[in-house]
Amino acid sequence: MEFKDLISHCKEYGFIYPSSEIYDGLSAVYDYGPYGSELKNNIKSYWWKSMVQMHENIVGIDAAIFMHPKTWKASGHVDAFNDPLVDNKDSKKRYRADQLIEGYAEKIEEKINKDVAKAKEKFGTSFDEVMYRATNPRVLERQAEIDTVLKRMNEALKVGDMEGLKQVIEDCEIPCPESGSRNWTEVRQFNLMFNTQLGNIAGEEGKLYLRPETAQGIFVNFLNVQKSTRQKIPFGIAQIGKAFRNEIVARQFIFRMREFEQMEMQFFIRPGEEMKWYEYWKETRLKWHLALGTPSSKLRFHDHDNLAHYANAAVDIQYEFPFGFRELEGIHSRTNFDLSQHQELSGKKLQYFDPELNENYVPYVVETSIGCDRMFLAMISESLQEEKVPDADGNESTRTVMKLHPCLAPNKVAVLPLLKNKEELTKAASDVFDTLKKKFLCQYDEKDAIGRRYRRQDAIGTPYCVTIDFETLENNTVTLRDRDTLQQIRVSIDEISKIVGEKVDYSNII
Ligand code: ATP
Repeated sequence: MEFKDLISHCKEYGFIYPSSEIYDGLSAVYDYGPYGSELKNNIKSYWWKSMVQMHENIVGIDAAIFMHPKTWKASGHVDAFNDPLVDNKDSKKRYRADQLIEGYAEKIEEKINKDVAKAKEKFGTSFDEVMYRATNPRVLERQAEIDTVLKRMNEALKVGDMEGLKQVIEDCEIPCPESGSRNWTEVRQFNLMFNTQLGNIAGEEGKLYLRPETAQGIFVNFLNVQKSTRQKIPFGIAQIGKAFRNEIVARQFIFRMREFEQMEMQFFIRPGEEMKWYEYWKETRLKWHLALGTPSSKLRFHDHDNLAHYANAAVDIQYEFPFGFRELEGIHSRTNFDLSQHQELSGKKLQYFDPELNENYVPYVVETSIGCDRMFLAMISESLQEEKVPDADGNESTRTVMKLHPCLAPNKVAVLPLLKNKEELTKAASDVFDTLKKKFLCQYDEKDAIGRRYRRQDAIGTPYCVTIDFETLENNTVTLRDRDTLQQIRVSIDEISKIVGEKVDYSNII
């Protein structure tokens, strides 16, 4: 399915709408509809259960979005949370300089891949791709160009050399993707934090920021939580909440938004043990993704080329979105940077007394940070499919189905009377619905032919459809249709909740 069709599907079926659409929308801001908000809540539940409920030594908090302005000075966001911005003078379009350069490198990579595909076709089964990539002069030349350009970019980014970035754009003759023009402004730093003003304090003192990450709410509460829950190191604090970034280029639907949600966990550890925990969380988080059925070929680790100012090791878990492999989650070894900074700026000690070592220290931190909306997009991209299936007459037809993991599916069961004009059927169906709704989110639907109702449920990912027919009235059995196999089995009404319950039980995946 093409990406634009996925976006229309999300709107048509009540998953995601553009924000304030009647006013033509607000760029990179989206609203979640009835099924979207259920799916998003289920993603959050899966995360919370796996991270908090399954770990005795991880507790959750819900900190405020607004924080004391000094928080962002201490964290480095006021001075360093910048992206390099460049404008095209002709098209008036704005870009991130690093993304323009990466786009240029990706184009060269596409050329390499085309060469490889051609050679594969030519040589057939005897083709040795690894050897070809390692020896073909044209491939080597192109690869060398990619390496040089990315190296120059990374070096410039590392030291904040905006002129250096501009030079790369000029040397590579990178055009504006919209207009083809090469008429660029200088590259300059752009801070990504949104700010607002506190009502009762004028000037800089009252300047507030909308948090660009949830992590800082955890850091400033480190001692409160440790003391009130009597946790011993190593222990973690988890949080799900909104974050805001004034992204320069916000494209690709909900991949890059200006208002989004993060699910973050900071794991506080002894100094010197960070690499052990870093590896542990890398593996644990990858397993979390795999447990949902995402194929391992679509997930990969990607080490950061440029470490953020706070990190001594960082890796992304990338997912192959419809537009390529991109970051879905980050795992960062943040050292004791944040706690030390807060200690310095607040003048309050943020130390832990380790009874085993008999010493005080500022703990180190390994964090896992995943965007809830990106996870949502990954799940929709993975599960939304068009599939050929036999129809009632034995002919082939196409259905759109969202093969979401049953734990994540918005509705778990649809209850469908075979005919809507037969009161005995609708009454029996309503009774089944009233029983099931106490356990699962269910939907009652009597409109249209049964085949169309099945299709509607397929399109929103409902794992089971229960159909009430005349036989139900005789012996209290219904047909239970499985979304994925299309198999219909006859079961008694009493069995439905056990069968569905087992399928949607989070303990299958946590
Ligand atoms: P990117 O390089 O894509 O901008 P990042 O490295 O700045 O992301 P982090 O600061 O590590 O991202 O944030 C942690 C997670 O938050 C990311 O892995 C991503 O899932 C999510 N995230 C970050 N920025 C956005 C955004 N603008 N919209 C949606 N999700 C986001």
